[in-house]
Amino acid sequence: MRLKDLGRPERTCVQCGNRDGKRSLLRVAGKAGAGWEPDPEGRRPGRGIYLCRKAGCVEGFAKRIRTPKGAARWRMGTEGTALADKISAWWTLETNA
Ligand SMILES: [Zn+2]
Repeated sequence: MRLKDLGRPERTCVQCGNRDGKRSLLRVAGKAGAGWEPDPEGRRPGRGIYLCRKAGCVEGFAKRIRTPKGAARWRMGTEGTALADKISAWWTLETNA
């Protein structure tokens, strides 16, 4: 374990700006051209985008990246729509668990 992991690393929700422990937030991992995936376990490589595990933030982010402007914010292009579908499916499972 690296020294910097011993603290309580915090991340910021890209939807509402709330800061929380990175394990409390939903991580979305990926990079431009390689595709994006929800990463609730925080194990995937790539750049991380963090969201509160709340309907408003999860659904708001999915809705945002379905639009060209929203997807362009993270250089997702058309991958934004595919990611939005994956996030919606994950959220449905999560909230029906
Ligand atoms: Zn949030």
